[in-house]
Amino acid sequence: MSNLDQAPAEIDCEAEPGTRNLTVLEPREVPLGGPRAMTVRRTLPQRQRSLIGAWCFLDHYGPNDVSVRGGMDVPPHPHIGLQTVSWLFAGGIEHHDSSGGEAIIYPGDVNLMTAGHGIQHSEVSTLDTTILHGVQLWTALPSSARSTAPMFEKAKPPALEHDGAVVRVFLGSLLGYTSPITAFTPIVGAQVDIPANTTVRIPVDASFEHGVLVDTGAVTLNGEAAPVDNLSYLGVGVDSLEFVVGDEPARMILIGGEPFQEKIIMWWNLVANTHEAIVEAREAWQEEAILGGRKPDRFGTMSGYKPLPGNHSGLSALPAPEMPTVRLKPREQPPA
Ligand code: MN
Repeated sequence: MSNLDQAPAEIDCEAEPGTRNLTVLEPREVPLGGPRAMTVRRTLPQRQRSLIGAWCFLDHYGPNDVSVRGGMDVPPHPHIGLQTVSWLFAGGIEHHDSSGGEAIIYPGDVNLMTAGHGIQHSEVSTLDTTILHGVQLWTALPSSARSTAPMFEKAKPPALEHDGAVVRVFLGSLLGYTSPITAFTPIVGAQVDIPANTTVRIPVDASFEHGVLVDTGAVTLNGEAAPVDNLSYLGVGVDSLEFVVGDEPARMILIGGEPFQEKIIMWWNLVANTHEAIVEAREAWQEEAILGGRKPDRFGTMSGYKPLPGNHSGLSALPAPEMPTVRLKPREQPPA
């Protein structure tokens, strides 16, 4: 998916200290634009925290009845310096990108797109989708991988059973399993499902910081409430996560990783290490895809984008917003 904010701030991101006590990061509602467009609950980046490991972006959406809210219809748009991870609880999404990647995912499948030095892609919910529900995450690439060639990978992680929980590791490592798709930093991303009235302890890497997004269920995490739709954060030094689940089954997304070693800048759909690199990528996108003054090079060419009937923006590519004149750090952002 895309950050469709028309006036995105430029955010300096770096690892911030945390504690072994739970910090609850509240979601911010962000409309994705257009009269019938869906709204997402964004928990990363935000004022209190811009990164969890290399995870730098987390949007949670649905369940949305697409006959009421419309589906997902994101025209081609660029990315640099990051990976996008698409993971669904309900519905289907069709993906196309300029590295030649094309895939339809349903719940249980993961799409991983590594932008490297530049890629463009589209995402459209499938015509058979009635309810759309899922998450979109980004990881920041370390400088050693920032200029890597763009690539697309898809996987269907196994359902690991642990202590009554079902765990699907879509990126990185957990419970002795490592996802076959490519991670560039020590990281974990997983869906964790736990039946009602069950307590589960999951061993985790104590050198990682972690976040748990609760989609459904009343969950206590390491002795403290982890509210639905919030991202509950634990700093490094925690070697297990104890989930106590109430009267309804719980479904969660667990993310974590080694605190990211570098400062990065995030603006719109672009991640880089300098402001100048963001400006350069924005100009290249505008000239290659929007204004037509330059042959497609950095972001390649797209095929396969089919807008959702009756629900599309009318755009064949998303223009970049204007760059802000003031740069912000997460903790300096005004309350949204
Ligand atoms: Mn995108």
